[in-house]
Amino acid sequence: MVEAAYRHHGLDIRYMNCEVPPEGLGDAVRGARAMGWIGFHCSLPHKVSVIAHLDGLGESAALMGAVNCAVRRGEQFIGENTDGKGFLKSLRQAIDPRGRRVVLFGAGGAARAIAVELALAGAAEIAVVNRDRARGAQLVDLLNTKTSTAAALVEWSRTTSIPDGVDIVVNATAIGLFPDVGGRLDFDPATLHPGMVVADVIANPPRTNFIREAEARGCVAIEGLGMLVNQGVIGIKYWTGVDVDASVMRRTVEAIFSD
Ligand code: NDP
Repeated sequence: MVEAAYRHHGLDIRYMNCEVPPEGLGDAVRGARAMGWIGFHCSLPHKVSVIAHLDGLGESAALMGAVNCAVRRGEQFIGENTDGKGFLKSLRQAIDPRGRRVVLFGAGGAARAIAVELALAGAAEIAVVNRDRARGAQLVDLLNTKTSTAAALVEWSRTTSIPDGVDIVVNATAIGLFPDVGGRLDFDPATLHPGMVVADVIANPPRTNFIREAEARGCVAIEGLGMLVNQGVIGIKYWTGVDVDASVMRRTVEAIFSD
């Protein structure tokens, strides 16, 4: 997906995937520095531990304590988090989160990234719905102590409902991710109403049961594929300064997922 954008824009850059074991992370970052890399993405399990090897953090990465994208600025590697920013870019096509009420399913890495960006964008309230109480409480505490968004925890131990007055509903759990394509969130779809904006983080497949249920109820539905493409677009902008054509990346990733 990233190299398709590089080719399209005539950027003479390569994007390589490297498997780095946890004990090799420091050496890998030193290697990237020594080789003059303009940056790198990093995925699980390195999103938190990589911070010890970087020179600084962007605002949202510092708040959420996780980095998925390192960017060389001068002689320094600065850690950013583009997952939530990619989500927000998709969401903004449908709604400005400022002053809005949000229900967020999940409290893992993707949920933290999304919650922090929603808070920085001025969301009024976020209800975090999560199975694991401790993990959910940690995210709620982060939002309440470090941002001006009011957060509350809903322990997800039985079928839940979306309260009246909610504007945005987000699935940030792994439910629906291939091969779990039949997965359903344990909530009452009859509590989704026309006009609500419903977004999923699942990119593969993009048309999850959650997205289908939202469309059937007249909601504005936002698939996770846009988030995936957008976080790539934002990363390339950080590394190169170039605004790449998202449609080139989208077509490439769609072709990969349909293989
Ligand atoms: P984590 O492992 O950090 O968190 C997983 C979350 O999903 C937790 O809140 C967990 O709840 C919840 N969960 C998982 N299975 C269930 C279930 N059966 N019922 C209820 N809750 C469940 O993963 P990430 O946050 O990193 O990733 C979550 C999803 O986001 C993945 O599918 C990933 O593909 C997607 N993603 C998409 C991106 C995109 O660009 N589109 C970018 C990043 C991630 P609990 O705490 O109770 O265990």
